[in-house]
Amino acid sequence: MSERFFSDSLIAGDAARLTGAEAQHLARVMRAQVGDEVILFDGGGDEFTGRITAISKSAVDLEITERRSLDRELPHQLTLAVALPKGDRQKVLVEKLTELGVTRLIPLITQRGVAQPVESALDRLSRSVIEASKQCGRNRLMEIAAPVDVAQLAEAAPSAVLRLVAHPDGERLAELGGASGDILAAVGPEGGFTDAEVSALERAGWRRVALGPRILRIETAAMALAAWASLR
Ligand code: SAH
Repeated sequence: MSERFFSDSLIAGDAARLTGAEAQHLARVMRAQVGDEVILFDGGGDEFTGRITAISKSAVDLEITERRSLDRELPHQLTLAVALPKGDRQKVLVEKLTELGVTRLIPLITQRGVAQPVESALDRLSRSVIEASKQCGRNRLMEIAAPVDVAQLAEAAPSAVLRLVAHPDGERLAELGGASGDILAAVGPEGGFTDAEVSALERAGWRRVALGPRILRIETAAMALAAWASLR
């Protein structure tokens, strides 16, 4: 079975147990049997082969037969602070940023932002991170950090080599150059950042960068930045 399953507790030793949605999926949807082998990951960076030893109503037990270190992370940390879009577009955002290898997504609270990052929504997004990781082969989960506002963000991670705020009126990204290293980038809400928010970031040393002459949706701007940063 080439499908990957996520263990929400770290796998130590030679046994693992899947519960919840993952156990249901394996037992009910995939109709797995005792003796079948599946691939597991636990978010700690490794990948495992497990042989099913028992299937019950709520759990699947496995014996770990192989542990592999398979690092599919970016060479540097990439953090995106994004004013979350509404509804389904949040899920698209999280799925694509996970695939692109983003280390951390920080929900950004802005003056013109509409979607408030409430706990239940953030829980749902964590599930999307797992689904995307299962599909793309990532063995570490993209972290969804606690929401921050622009003033807090301005002072965050001064050690990042680049701190960028996406703004239609900014420097051309292609001409940015610079050494490789950790990147922190911010994307505003559909109504845009206020002038005060942009100045607060610039005063703290952030650079304004443009992503072309068209106005992009929040998730498109975030994906463009992530693709650029992860492939440079
Ligand atoms: N109405 C706003 C645009 C908001 S788009 C305005 O005119 O400023 C949502 C966010 O996506 C923006 O805050 C910005 O961070 C990012 N964005 C969209 N298009 C962009 C572009 N062409 N260049 C840089 N950032 C962009």
